Amino acid sequence: MSETVFAMTGGRVTIDRRPILRNVDLTVRPGEVVALMGANGSGKSTLVRALLGLIPLSGGETLLYGSPPARFRDWWRIGYVPQRLQVGGGVPATVREVVGSGRVARQSRLRRTSAADRAAVAGALEAVGLSGRAGDPVQELSGGQQQRVLIARALAGEPDVYVMDEPTAGVDAETQQLLADTLARLALDGRTIALVAHELGPLEPLITRGVVISDGLVVHDGRPPQPEGECARPGHQHVHPHAPEILGQGTTAGPLNGWQGEA
Ligand code: ADP
Ligand code: MG
Repeated sequence: MSETVFAMTGGRVTIDRRPILRNVDLTVRPGEVVALMGANGSGKSTLVRALLGLIPLSGGETLLYGSPPARFRDWWRIGYVPQRLQVGGGVPATVREVVGSGRVARQSRLRRTSAADRAAVAGALEAVGLSGRAGDPVQELSGGQQQRVLIARALAGEPDVYVMDEPTAGVDAETQQLLADTLARLALDGRTIALVAHELGPLEPLITRGVVISDGLVVHDGRPPQPEGECARPGHQHVHPHAPEILGQGTTAGPLNGWQGEA
C-alpha cells in the first residue's frame, strides 16, 4: 500500500452543535495536486484545518502520514497557508521575519539561522515577487501582498506538502501566474499540493483532482473542473447545464449549484 499524506474517514466537525463537516472521506497521496472547491461557507477551511489537526474531529478520524495529528512529529513536511494573516499583538514583524518563521520547524535548537535558511527565505521572497519588501513591516502591505508573504513562508520551509487556503484570493493576475509557475515546479518535483480556490485561473493546468464540498459533504471527487468557452469568462454564473458532463455520467448537478462560490 502506498503512503498516504492525508487520510480522513467519516470526518465530522461540529461547532456549537451545528454540523460543519458531516461525513468526509478524503485520501490524498504523494504527488497529487488537489483543488478543494465549493461555495462560501461550505466547509473548505474547516476541512483543511481538520486535516492538519488544528480543529478536533467530533467523529471519524484523520491521519497525517499515518499518524493522528496529535502524534505527528514531522511538521517540517507540511507547509500551511491559512486563509488570512493573523496580525495581532501590535508586534511589528518584517516580511523577512514572517517568511523566516517558515524555517523554524527545520531549525535545530543549537544551530539557528544558517546559510541554507537565508537562501530559502530569499528564494521564497523571489518566488512571490516580494524581494524588494523584505525589510518592511507586514502591516504596511496590502491584503494581496500579505497573502504572498504567507505563501512565501510556506515555500521557505521547503515542505513535502503544501496546504493552501485560497492562496490566490485578492492576488493580482501577474502574481497568480508567478505562483502557478512556482507550484508547477514543486509538483514536477513530486510535492503534494492541496489548495482551496474559487477560481483556478492560471493554477488550472496543474490540478490533477477536484474535490467539491457542499454543506459539509464531499459531493464530487475526481476530474478537476474544466473551464471552457463562456464558463471561463469572468462573471459567468457557474450554475450551468453541462455540469453533469464535467462530472461524468450519472452525477446530478443539484448539489453543485454555486460550487464556484459567490459571483
Ligand atoms: P469555507 O472555507 O468553505 O468558506 P468554512 O469552513 O470557513 O467555509 O465555514 C464553514 C461553516 O462553518 C460556515 O457556516 C462558518 O460560518 C462556520 N464556522 C467556521 N468556523 C467557525 C467557528 N470557529 N465558529 C462558528 N462557526 C464557524
Ligand atoms: Mg474558507
